[in-house]
Amino acid sequence: MKETTEDTYLHKGLRRKLVEEIKHKGIKDQAVLDAINNVPRHLFMDSGFVNFAYKDQAFPISAGQTISQPYTVAFQTELLQVKKHEKILEVGTGSGYQAAVLVELGAVVYTIERHKVLTLKAQTLLPRLGYNPRFFYGDGYKGLETYGPFDKVLITAAAPEIPQELLKQLRIGGRMVLPLGGRHSQVMTTIEKLGESEFKRTEYGNFVFVPLLKGKT
Ligand code: SAH
Repeated sequence: MKETTEDTYLHKGLRRKLVEEIKHKGIKDQAVLDAINNVPRHLFMDSGFVNFAYKDQAFPISAGQTISQPYTVAFQTELLQVKKHEKILEVGTGSGYQAAVLVELGAVVYTIERHKVLTLKAQTLLPRLGYNPRFFYGDGYKGLETYGPFDKVLITAAAPEIPQELLKQLRIGGRMVLPLGGRHSQVMTTIEKLGESEFKRTEYGNFVFVPLLKGKT
């Protein structure tokens, strides 16, 4: 991991361009665009990839995982309709970038990851940048029952089915955002919890994520 938390004018300039690019691609929520503008994405990537940090692309991180494409992060975050002080469960900490974006929006973030090395890295980096979500190493399929219910649940890995435990941990009136589908392509989906067993499902476009896998490594 990079020791420095340097964020130069060059980085800031590239980030502003990236924000223009994702705005052009259809992201409208100004708070989301501001959050992307504020989080130094280059610090979440291994040093060899720093030059790619402000391209609108996904990139490899440790443990064979990826940091999602900025547009995808913005799209999921927009769908989540984050309000200040909301309690949000993120499944798939990965680099911690998405968690930082949610903290920027004023949410109280709980993030869970099944690769210990990724949890440890994110747990070191984010507080140094002033972001303090709560980190958990475990199986996100099971969620965090003792900390629920959550106002929002965000799954950042491809889910072959809707994890029922996570629906239970969503408060009534809450919303889940997840890419739903098989290995090759998923449909971005929102689930609104209208009652204890009443849900409204809406589908958006196709995306490609690394898979949501059961258990820890
Ligand atoms: N949100 C991340 C993107 C991570 S990619 C970021 O901003 O960088 C998806 C992540 O989900 C991977 O790190 C993967 O290890 C993790 N994952 C997959 N299945 C999981 C599960 N059952 N529980 C927790 N994390 C899981």
